[in-house]
Amino acid sequence: MSPKEKQCNVENCSNLSKKTVSREKAGSAMKQAGLNLDIRDKVTKVHLCAEHYRKIKKQLKKDREIERLRWG
Ligand SMILES: [Zn+2]
Repeated sequence: MSPKEKQCNVENCSNLSKKTVSREKAGSAMKQAGLNLDIRDKVTKVHLCAEHYRKIKKQLKKDREIERLRWG
């Protein structure tokens, strides 16, 4: 593994990171998807493999839809 390659930050996942999402955005989506993050407290970016990014993306989209309903 080259030093530039990062691993997925989901607990127990050892796939290489494909996408980076802000921790703020990822946090609640991860929780709703039932995934735990394995990161340090000060980290603001979350690295995700393709598989986990897809799961989060779905959840992020759902969040946006809920917001849209709430605010019209
Ligand atoms: Zn992963």
